[in-house]
Amino acid sequence: AWTRHAWQTTPRPPVNLRTDQPHSARMYDYLLGGKDNFPPDRDAAEQALAGFPYLRIATRQNRAFMTRAVRYLATEAGIRQFLDIGTGIPTSPNVHETVQAVAPDARVVYADNDPIVLTHARALLTGTAAGRTAYLDADLRDVESILAAPELRDTLDLTRPVSLSLIAILHFVPDSDDPYRLVARLVDALPAGSHLTISHGTGDFAPAVRDQAASAYRARGVSAAPRDHAAFVRFFDGLELLDPGVTVAHRWRPDDQVPAGLTDAQVSCYVAVARKP
Ligand code: SAH
Repeated sequence: AWTRHAWQTTPRPPVNLRTDQPHSARMYDYLLGGKDNFPPDRDAAEQALAGFPYLRIATRQNRAFMTRAVRYLATEAGIRQFLDIGTGIPTSPNVHETVQAVAPDARVVYADNDPIVLTHARALLTGTAAGRTAYLDADLRDVESILAAPELRDTLDLTRPVSLSLIAILHFVPDSDDPYRLVARLVDALPAGSHLTISHGTGDFAPAVRDQAASAYRARGVSAAPRDHAAFVRFFDGLELLDPGVTVAHRWRPDDQVPAGLTDAQVSCYVAVARKP
């Protein structure tokens, strides 16, 4: 079933995609082998790859972690409501495909601030008949608007547990935007039994990630803030980490799809799933 969305009914001004400038969502799409990117995105992504040649492995392992985490939450933790902020250009399987495959009644709200993701929102909205999927054109830095949005309120019941996922987005939010406060405010709005899942780029295992990949993004106007272990763990203050705790993406409950022999340096992405007590 489809929810009605403001963007489907209200005329919007034409979206300016700024395809003359690189954008993190399109660079990421290029790294994953997608088609929704332009020369400046490809150029910036190639620069980042030159600094950190494993970036493609890292992005794939990040996606694979996301799939395992939300599948776990739908099956083992019984979660039926999902809020995914920083969704990205649709890449299959997305959260709704994964969770509705095991729980057809699961409801999913996606949010992203990139106009090109908005143009693809329909691809994110093909929920099951029993479940429901909605898309929110919103900025993580404006948490109050996300929480108040009709698309969210009409789709999720905030008195029941929610899985909040922030997958490969927080490293685009510098400390000056206080990402810890943003995450804490979102978690505050969710009831006990809700879960927080984060993946986040780090330079702890390969300093080149921190230095060269981040500066390749920044040189093109895309802010990038890889964080170390201590800075990552802080996002989970007050929450109960699920086994195996904070780890690198490919080490979180790996399935037989995770190639053997990956190193922490190749993946360079901290992940964790935690429960709100
Ligand atoms: N979660 C997906 C995509 C990661 S790419 C995955 O891991 O596969 C990062 C995404 O975060 C991009 O789509 C970008 O547009 C979005 N993003 C970055 N900063 C944001 C912000 N402040 N608010 C909302 N979305 C943001």
